[in-house]
Amino acid sequence: MLTVAEARARILEHFEPLGTEWVALGAARGRVLAEVIQSRENLPPFANSSMDGYAVRVAETQAAAPTHSIVLPVSGDIPAGSAIPPALPRGTAMRIMTGAPLPEGADAVVPVEETDDARGSASAPSAIRILRAPAHGANIRPVGQDVAVGQVVLEAGTLLRPAAIGVLAALGHAQVRVHRQPLIALLSTGDELVPVEGTPRPGQIRDTNSYSLAAAIEQYGGRVARLGLARDRLAEVRAKLQQARELGADLIVSSAGVSVGAYDFVKEAVEADGALTFWRVKMRPGKPLAFGRVGGLPFIGLPGNPVSSLVGMEVFVRPVLLKLAGHRRFDRLVVPATLAEPMHSDGRETYLRVRLEPHAGGYLAHSTGHQGSNIITSLVKADGLLVIPEGVTEVASGQTAPVWLLDAF
Ligand code: AMP
Ligand code: MG
Repeated sequence: MLTVAEARARILEHFEPLGTEWVALGAARGRVLAEVIQSRENLPPFANSSMDGYAVRVAETQAAAPTHSIVLPVSGDIPAGSAIPPALPRGTAMRIMTGAPLPEGADAVVPVEETDDARGSASAPSAIRILRAPAHGANIRPVGQDVAVGQVVLEAGTLLRPAAIGVLAALGHAQVRVHRQPLIALLSTGDELVPVEGTPRPGQIRDTNSYSLAAAIEQYGGRVARLGLARDRLAEVRAKLQQARELGADLIVSSAGVSVGAYDFVKEAVEADGALTFWRVKMRPGKPLAFGRVGGLPFIGLPGNPVSSLVGMEVFVRPVLLKLAGHRRFDRLVVPATLAEPMHSDGRETYLRVRLEPHAGGYLAHSTGHQGSNIITSLVKADGLLVIPEGVTEVASGQTAPVWLLDAF
């Protein structure tokens, strides 16, 4: 049986980043950049003021102090958006607003609070009293301070989060080249399942996994082609897998029917039209985990229990989605946490649902409750998955263990 690390590596080597497409910047959040962005412009594009105030020459204001203010005639008024102003005449100041271009010759901006200007006066005064001498370069944002011409601003593989979107906007990229989003064909199997709109008869339950797994795929940047439910019949599972191939999916993900039960037909269905690479991993929850190909299309069979299937999604499918989508890093952030109570394992690599509480500059980990693989409510409460390594059966209270951070708020 494979370890988690071996299984992940063996799955990941079958995938490469998908091709690319152009998207409008306004639709690019969450996508992964497929080009290097090297700036053709400076940011800021021109020297400008970071305060509302008065542009001056430092040498002409050195004598200013609260007890000895100096007065300069005001030779101009520069609102934000004005064209580059004429040079600052010697012995004068110009009123300037935040973001407005600095006149040549000025080497500091005195904030309005350090003058006798009554704030908000519509027209500039004819002279201004300076109450404090500014330092050289004070309140000036030089050209290229953030980004210089020729600089690589964003590497290919960058996830387009709000700040990256902002940089692209600032540099004039109305369209960006990103990786295509993976399309995942998603299937639930099981005779006991009814869709969420249905009424379960005695012995039946509602299909949890179609919905939870679809939500995870979308959250991790994929698109979902819902294949719905297949009953525990070889022919029915095979027909659904065939449908996935016709949809042009990049990957098939199924839940349940991959264990050793008498009606577990998923492995057989995969082998009928393709090949199974492995179907068990040394972990808890989630030992039945199948990987293979159906007619050339990669296939991951997750276990049926709702927590096992979501943990399998987290550990095995999420890295694949990230790799397909063009990310360069596939791992969650892992933080060490101190156990608030003892935690147990059967010796397999174990993923426990924990809530994290800030404590002494780090985190205390509390179990979120019953750790059964069907107890989905304890995953709802989890900030992370605490990992007990293979071969360890107990971690004592007060000891530390690594925790994978889930998307916590
Ligand atoms: P199996 O892997 O088919 O043996 O299923 C393991 C457990 O997961 C059983 O208790 C199933 O009823 C349950 N299960 C399977 N699929 C789902 C699903 N889509 N939603 C909720 N529970 C499921
Ligand atoms: Mg079943």
